[in-house]
Amino acid sequence: MKINIAKKAGFCFGVKRAIDITFNLAKEDNKGLYTYGPLIHNPQVVEELKSKGVKAVDDLTSPDIRTIIIRTHGVSPEVYAETSKMGYNVIDATCPFVKKAQNFAQILNDEGYQVLIIGDKEHPEVQGLIGFAGGHAVVADNADHLPALKNKVGIIVQTTQPFDTFRKIVLQVISTVREVKIYNTICDFTAQRVKETRELAKKVELMIIVGGKNSSNTNQLVKLSEDVCAKVYHVETAEEIREEWFQGIENVGITGGASTPQWIIDDAVKKIREISVRR
Ligand code: SF4
Repeated sequence: MKINIAKKAGFCFGVKRAIDITFNLAKEDNKGLYTYGPLIHNPQVVEELKSKGVKAVDDLTSPDIRTIIIRTHGVSPEVYAETSKMGYNVIDATCPFVKKAQNFAQILNDEGYQVLIIGDKEHPEVQGLIGFAGGHAVVADNADHLPALKNKVGIIVQTTQPFDTFRKIVLQVISTVREVKIYNTICDFTAQRVKETRELAKKVELMIIVGGKNSSNTNQLVKLSEDVCAKVYHVETAEEIREEWFQGIENVGITGGASTPQWIIDDAVKKIREISVRR
């Protein structure tokens, strides 16, 4: 069985940066060290951080917080205000690409545009962007279900959205709205990974996508692989991989989301190799 491993599988620049910041801080002193929400969307990494004494909190009034690390997906200005009111030491691990999108959200709002965010309304990154757009941005993830739009609309996009979704919504908006200002805030890492995954999924009979079930970009990789490959499995760890999936399969592809550590991907590859040897 041929096993094709994606070159861009695993941690992206923003996640690696946040992980390095946090593990280095934990090494120095983990007393009262917390992340605001999970640092990244990978349960195994969050567990590892916990074992080093770094816990995730949603409640900023928790009594023993001394230092709070802002997650890669960013937070709204209200959360920054709350952390400074509480007098915490704040370490900002927001990915610079997310920061850029936050700046554009603020600029568009200040310039009087109705801000339209293309993305998942429930995702923490989008929640933060809504805050930077003055709290009254509208959100869409599908060109067929657009919210009511005004005559002056400013568009930004969640950094991990597929370009195709962005393109379809933009085309729809420019056909009905008089004044539109657009910032393409999809990050380069996402764009490259999407392209690579689609090409890989097209040429194999079975795709394994490794990553958190709560990870937006991992779920995007699953979805786009399903469009071009008949058998796609999303696993968080190697233990979930089943031997029977590979019956009659000669060509397998494997990739991981931006928040998937290399060791989890390596474990999954090892398990597939073992299955291949047994056949
Ligand atoms: S996927 Fe892109 S925006 Fe998100 S953390 Fe990684 S580099 Fe940053």
